[in-house]
Amino acid sequence: MIHINKLQKVYDNGYEALKSINLEVNEGELVCLLGPSGCGKTTILNLLAGLLDPTSGDIKFDNESVINKHPKDRNIGLVFQNYALYPHMTVLENVMFPLTVGKKKKPKEEAEKIAKKYMKITSIEELANKKPGEMSGGQQQRVAITRALVQSPKVLLLDEPLSNLDARLRLKIREEIRRLVKEIGITTIFVTHDQEEALSISDRIVLMNQGIVQQFDIPQNLYLEPANLFVAKFMGNPIINIYEMNKEGNVLVGDDFSIDLSLLNKNRIKQSFTEEKYVVGIRPEYFVLSDKPLFKVKVETAELIGKDCILNFKINNKNSKAITDINEGICENDEVGLDIDYNSIYIFKEDGMRVY
Ligand code: ATP
Repeated sequence: MIHINKLQKVYDNGYEALKSINLEVNEGELVCLLGPSGCGKTTILNLLAGLLDPTSGDIKFDNESVINKHPKDRNIGLVFQNYALYPHMTVLENVMFPLTVGKKKKPKEEAEKIAKKYMKITSIEELANKKPGEMSGGQQQRVAITRALVQSPKVLLLDEPLSNLDARLRLKIREEIRRLVKEIGITTIFVTHDQEEALSISDRIVLMNQGIVQQFDIPQNLYLEPANLFVAKFMGNPIINIYEMNKEGNVLVGDDFSIDLSLLNKNRIKQSFTEEKYVVGIRPEYFVLSDKPLFKVKVETAELIGKDCILNFKINNKNSKAITDINEGICENDEVGLDIDYNSIYIFKEDGMRVY
């Protein structure tokens, strides 16, 4: 449905915000653009919307290039984080508005009928006569989404639509957005910098950094099969533990623990170990408590978070974290034995490329 080919954007000041992006999004798919501030998410969205012109490359909707089309002719619905509703109009008038202007404008009764149909789908019928100032942020965002849908666009573009809402409402509205998008079957691009939001709402996620796509994949794979060190570090909370280690013979050597490369799962090895230095990544949940441990650590602090307890300790000269169950009852200053499951560690080359 959406085909982005070698898309590049250099802003007037010479800054290259996007470097040859290639993406294909299927009909009815909900894709999140995820990444740290400044990675180029909004730039892609604005290029899709036609609010910016690319420096080079192409964007096709349904096999037809839209690069030279005006935003109004691209058949898109746009929703921003600040709702952008007309304050002097009621909800019904706001939702009807796109249907009452432009080349394809409809008679008032028909516009009202269509607006009410969508207001029913998004459950905002009872707000019809309210003005934006009389509603909560969540209600206003529902109205903005409804207004974006009334012209039955082919593509829905959402730029951080939940960032002005409180945490609880964010959870609720993101569920609603997913349900709505799937019910209508509209192809949707959703920009967020919140990995949890992206993991929970997306069919697939585009994780970006510095204008480059780092991985475009289903949510599980971003977490379990990171393509490189950046992805492994970006996904997961607490952040993955990282250890720089030197290869000596067939062993990656560290002060407190080493990795015997001959014990790795052969099926997970992507490239032979020919370098001198590697980076080992171990997620906090993959350190396992053991009676016959690989190494022992002294717990510096133990933070309870719900049923999990996060242990902070130092190993191989790095501050590290492990997640244990609250029932283990581990406290500050305890000495605990830990083991590593070789099937759940990652190994990267110094340049970040994953080899295991
Ligand atoms: P955020 O999450 O903070 O909104 P983002 O991933 O959406 O970030 P963009 O807004 O796409 O990032 O910006 C990408 C990069 O391009 C940033 O480094 C930004 O400073 C730069 N940039 C954006 N707009 C312009 C502009 N008009 N002129 C010059 N540089 C720009």
